[in-house]
Amino acid sequence: MIDKLIDFFFPRFCPICGELDIVLCDICERELGTASQICPICGEESLMGWTHGGCKKKGHLDGLISLFEYGDSSVRKVIDSIKYDFNKELIPRLFKKVEIEIGERFDFVVPVPLHYYRSNWRGFNQAELTGKALATKLPEVGFENLLIRKVNTPQQVKMLSREKRKRNVIDVFDLNPEIKEIDLKYKKVLLVDDVFTTGASMGECCKVLKSAGVEVVWGFTLAH
Ligand SMILES: [Zn+2]
Ligand SMILES: [Zn+2]
Repeated sequence: MIDKLIDFFFPRFCPICGELDIVLCDICERELGTASQICPICGEESLMGWTHGGCKKKGHLDGLISLFEYGDSSVRKVIDSIKYDFNKELIPRLFKKVEIEIGERFDFVVPVPLHYYRSNWRGFNQAELTGKALATKLPEVGFENLLIRKVNTPQQVKMLSREKRKRNVIDVFDLNPEIKEIDLKYKKVLLVDDVFTTGASMGECCKVLKSAGVEVVWGFTLAH
């Protein structure tokens, strides 16, 4: 019933060209292109998304994979439609045709947690939906909410400086107490978010996972 009402008030349309009754049209999908991969620490280009040897410190992400580039205006329309129009159908649609090739063999797909306070009114966390869509492409990898967010932080997008955003996420993530029976020692995790910007949240999540024994953590985002 609620979904029907939402369809009535918010008709489906391609976020790029506006064609009605379609989540994303094939022609616009081709405009999205693919991302050149970057090092998650310095943000400079990096082959396959590996963290540069010289950038890596203890607890850091081992690499980052992004599907699209947020700087591209078509990509921005799609991501903003997910974030601000709560267009959740777009997430599985983006995964429909992409080939995901990852060199490592991972154990878990883990979303960056969103505090309930920031969960949008349609009740979804875009990082979690992205993680679930990714997990369907990687049938041997389990989806697990291994992390929780401890305290509310003001919406990061509203904050201005990069430094402020970094300070704002320190010590806000923790292991999900409900999953303590899972042994994380030497495990490999794909940590998922919708967009990679400063990498502050992902970096903090990575530290929590690695201090719990996780050996390898790669980031995965729709766009950077
Ligand atoms: Zn279109
Ligand atoms: Zn680097």
